[in-house]
Amino acid sequence: MDRRCDRCRRDLPPGEPAWILRLEAYADFDGMLRDLDEEVLEAELRALLEELEQAAAGEQAAILEDEVYLRRFYRVCRACRERWVANPLNLALPERWE
Ligand SMILES: [Zn+2]
Repeated sequence: MDRRCDRCRRDLPPGEPAWILRLEAYADFDGMLRDLDEEVLEAELRALLEELEQAAAGEQAAILEDEVYLRRFYRVCRACRERWVANPLNLALPERWE
């Protein structure tokens, strides 16, 4: 079975440690709906209906689903795991750390 680091694309020889990263992102609904005037609300609902119609027609469904809940798995080598753990949000780092 071929194993490869999904980040650096390096082949992982048999026995080399690797880690599975699970990325999970889901909508953080705070229970509040924006106070919209009727005209804006109607326009947003119309846009949403159009999106849903397109979704029903094809791959847009997956895109809409990903906006609500997304889960991905990645296999990474030790070096890539350490980089990810050190900066999981990919924040800008001081130049000397890049
Ligand atoms: Zn790697």
